[in-house]
Order: sequence, then C-alpha cells, then structure tokens
Amino acid sequence: MKVASTKTHFDVETIRKDFPILSREVNGKPLVYFDNAATSQTPQQVIDAIVDYYTRYNANIHRGVHTLSQEATDAYEQARIKIQEHFNAAKAHEIILTSGTTHAINLVASGFASLLKKNDEVIVSALEHHSNIVPWQMLCEKTGAKLKVIPMNNEGMLKMEEYEKLLSEKTKLVFVNHVSNALGTVNPVEEIIQKAHAVGAAVLLDGAQAAPHIKADVQKLDVDFYAVSAHKMCGPTGVGMLYGKEEWLKKLPPYQGGGEMIATVTFEKTTYADLPHKFEAGTPDICGGIAFGAALDYMNNIGFEKIAAYEHELLEYATQKLLEIDDLKIYGTSSDKTAVISFNIGEIHPYDIGTIIDKLGIAVRTGHHCAQPVMDFFKIPGTVRASFSFYNTKEEIDTFVEAVKKAKQMLS
Ligand SMILES: *Cc1c(COP(=O)(O)O)cnc(C)c1O
Repeated sequence: MKVASTKTHFDVETIRKDFPILSREVNGKPLVYFDNAATSQTPQQVIDAIVDYYTRYNANIHRGVHTLSQEATDAYEQARIKIQEHFNAAKAHEIILTSGTTHAINLVASGFASLLKKNDEVIVSALEHHSNIVPWQMLCEKTGAKLKVIPMNNEGMLKMEEYEKLLSEKTKLVFVNHVSNALGTVNPVEEIIQKAHAVGAAVLLDGAQAAPHIKADVQKLDVDFYAVSAHKMCGPTGVGMLYGKEEWLKKLPPYQGGGEMIATVTFEKTTYADLPHKFEAGTPDICGGIAFGAALDYMNNIGFEKIAAYEHELLEYATQKLLEIDDLKIYGTSSDKTAVISFNIGEIHPYDIGTIIDKLGIAVRTGHHCAQPVMDFFKIPGTVRASFSFYNTKEEIDTFVEAVKKAKQMLS
C-alpha cells in the first residue's frame, strides 16, 4: 500500500477517495490525470447530486404547480444563490446560468452589437482562449468597431504599459482572461479593470481557468461581467455562469428568444421577463445547475486557500523536476501563475510525447490549447501541457517526470 508521503497538512489521500475515476487504470497503469485545465474530475458528492436529481425529482422548472416541479425549481434557484454567494454577487438575478464560458461570452458579445458604433474600440489580450477572441471578432465585423490587442512579453505576462496606451475614450469594452489556460499566467485584473473604468469602458473577465483555483469576488473586483464553466471546477459539463452587473444586464437585449424568457407574448408584441430569466430561454440544464452548486459546496468545504497553497506546492515541485531534463523549455514563467506547465523538449513534437505517456497511463493535453495566438508568439505549433489539481500528488508528478524522460529517450 502507498504511504502518504506528502508532507503537508493537506490530506490529499482522503480527498482522492472522493473521486472514483482516480482509481481506474489506463493501459494497465494507474491513471495519472494531469489534464485538469481542460476539464476537472468529478467527486462522488457531485455525482450523487446528479443521481439524486434524476432518481427523485426530475421535472421542468418555473412552470408546474406540482410538487416535483417545485422541488426542482427550489433546488435550481438554491444553486443560483450558492453561485451568487461564492462569487459574492450583490444580487441572485445577476447570475445567469449558461451552458458554459463560451455561451456566457457569446451572450455578452451578441448583446453589445446593439451598443457599439463604427470606430468604437474593444481591447482583448494576446493571451486569450479562442472563445474570448472569436465572438469579439464577430462583434467587430457586425458593428465596425476595432479590435486592439494587449501584447505580452517572453514570460507570458501582459505588457501593462502597452495596455495603457491602447485605452482612450473610444474604448468601450475590455475582455481578458483572469488566468491564461495555455500558460497559467494570472493577469493583473484589478489594475486592468480600474484603468478601463477610468475611460468609461466595461470589462469582461473570462474566469474559466481562474475559478478552479481562485475565489473571485466580483464586487471587490468591480468587474462588469465574469464568465465560468462548472466542468473545470468539479462540476458537470454543459453548465456555467455569466455574472453581469444589474445595470449592464438591463441594458443588453435578450440573447435567444423562446420559452422562459418572456413576460407576455402576442403576435404583435412580446415583452421580456425580468432578470435572470430574460437571458435563460428554454429549458436549462436543471440537473447541471444543481450539480454546479454541489461542486461549489464541495470545493468550499475543502477551502480555496488550502487548494491554492497545495497546488502551488505541486507546481513548484513539478517545475523543478521537469527543468532537470535537458532541452526542456517551459513556456509561461510569470511569478504569478496557477498549476499549469506548458513545455516542449528540443524539436520533439508535443503530440508524440503525449501519445507515449498515454501508454503509461498519463493524461496531458498537447496542441495549441485553443490559444493559437499564444503559440504563434512563441513560434511553436503547440506544447505539452500538464495541469494539476488539488487531488493530484507528488508521487504522480514523479511518475509523470519519469515517463517524460522515457518519451524523450525514445524520440531523440
Ligand atoms: C475552457 C476555457 C474556455 C471555454 O470554456 P467552455 O467550457 O468550453 O465554454 C474559455 N476560456 C478559458 C480561459 C478556458 O480555459
């Protein structure tokens, strides 16, 4: 049996028991799951919430007077309040449940089409995920607004002095990720928000990669929009949230038309429902929303400060071990980063490393990580990305480093 050798107050062995998938084997080896930045694993507590919903009270919400419908509605609205409390939104109706970050960003981008004019400017960063680039390009095409890009330096940090130069009274919107999924860089979001507000621009933060590690306080940040996906923070796929300040959500037009989002409908005129329902057309992922709430409960029970401290230990340990390998280069070396390591070894293609270590039971992501501009900046086709979660261990990192060494041997 394995002896708990992690010298930390963090009881990772007990936590691992909550995740059934972590005890499976892949290709005859114990699974080492280091693709947490793509999606996290699901604890039994969240799986139970899903099973409980479909076993006991599956019904459509906000519609029926019958008991099941009321129980489902109550649980769904309770989840919204958990999300509100977690992100410290002032009001529950500022939380829009979406299918994820991508949906949340598209909702805002589509709404701004009616608020932007030709020659207005919007600012994005060089570090973005495609889902925080493409919707804005589409918006610019529609409105004639111009897209400006905050450049980054070789460490993968945004050049803040360049950001300041881009800002003017023409700037209407700034959208950056809180944490970069490709490199793990934590961006200086407080400063980004303050400077944008100083010229009257709104800010959307893509929090998909931050939310699993950092508990964002949307009021303290004074951010206008914040988007996350549940599946990166122990919840199910297909659900996420958009936080929006009430004043903005009132200004934006509805995103989709349908049931649930209306107050009255006639063929002459339809009036829209109040927030949050105005943005929640159709039957949502009811079970997913409830499970998202259960995931937040699970992570808050452990505590985000403890999670961040332990993951930082893993990051430092893995960084040091990997750098012992000749010709290994890490991309993204900001002093403030989450537990993500993007790397290459010499000229070896990242895909080949990923394929070999999969045979040894290890899951990492290889490729451009939906952030092609970041890869172009470093003039590489992609990287191997290992991303850690609080349920990973130093022993797993040892296994991983040995596997990478083996892959290097086979490929060079
Ligand atoms: C994963 C991710 C997204 C997209 O999230 P979806 O759940 O696929 O909608 C957007 N931005 C960042 C930074 C991400 O890591």
